[in-house]
Amino acid sequence: MNSTPKFDLHMHSRASDGTLAPAEVMQRAHDAGVELIALTDHDTLEGLSEARTAAHALGMTFINGVELTADWRGRVVHLVGLNFDAGAPQFEHYMQHLMTLRDDRAREIARKLEKRGLGSNLYEAAREQAGDTQIGRPHFAKALMALGKVSSMQEAFDAYLGQGTIGDVKATWPSYVEAIELITAAGGVVVLAHPTKYNFTFTKIRELMTDLLAAGAIGLEVSFPGVTPGHQHELIKLAHQRECYVSAGSDFHSPDQRWTSLGRYPEFEAQRLIYEQLLPIRT
Ligand code: AMP
Ligand code: MN
Ligand code: MN
Ligand code: MN
Repeated sequence: MNSTPKFDLHMHSRASDGTLAPAEVMQRAHDAGVELIALTDHDTLEGLSEARTAAHALGMTFINGVELTADWRGRVVHLVGLNFDAGAPQFEHYMQHLMTLRDDRAREIARKLEKRGLGSNLYEAAREQAGDTQIGRPHFAKALMALGKVSSMQEAFDAYLGQGTIGDVKATWPSYVEAIELITAAGGVVVLAHPTKYNFTFTKIRELMTDLLAAGAIGLEVSFPGVTPGHQHELIKLAHQRECYVSAGSDFHSPDQRWTSLGRYPEFEAQRLIYEQLLPIRT
């Protein structure tokens, strides 16, 4: 490819906390002009094969992706894995472990919300929203909306699920070292997702990047919805200083979230775009 393809390397489907089927996500992205695409559901590879088939039928270049929840020095961070061999044997055990972890956490979230008087059988209600895949706090937010306890996802997070609230139940996530090892052993690459969304100072983000790069990650996202021009500038500067790769994506979850849209993130200019590192493309 001579010119930069229009790419989107971060998005979700019903396989995790998105609302559309993987094939529908691919169709919408194609309609938006995306040429190079990765589906990056939270802690699961379930949506990849449907998405790949759909993307190929539409003539897009499809990259295997996943957004792994991981522990870094007691904090939760999100790591985007790209272009790994999805058939690598280590995934089954790792994803099964995350399934158990998320399921146990969901039961605890339900218990806490019920104690707060928000209803009964909330685990079942959230499970119904999630289907048989990875359950998370957004499924509780949707369940609370369906029960009329809140009027928006945002309200659910602000009052009951977000950082520091009753439903923000801790889990023992795999360490960032394990997450990076999982992806790199399968031939993939890892970047830090949305670095400014963890409430870290830039000093902390720089420490985090030092550890991630030492563990085998190759870069960070510098463009995603909500990143300010000032922060983006800092992130690009950091990538430049560390000589690491930059990625970008819409973090699309649902057409209802008007602030995200497939193929859309603030424009930027930077060296070492991640897609240069995505060859050969793995299935
Ligand atoms: P979990 O992986 O279960 O901890 O849930 C985290 C997910 O919740 C993120 O990936 C977002 O999709 C979603 N989320 C986090 N904060 C908010 C918020 N304030 N409003 C809506 N969704 C949110
Ligand atoms: Mn999400
Ligand atoms: Mn994330
Ligand atoms: Mn995401």
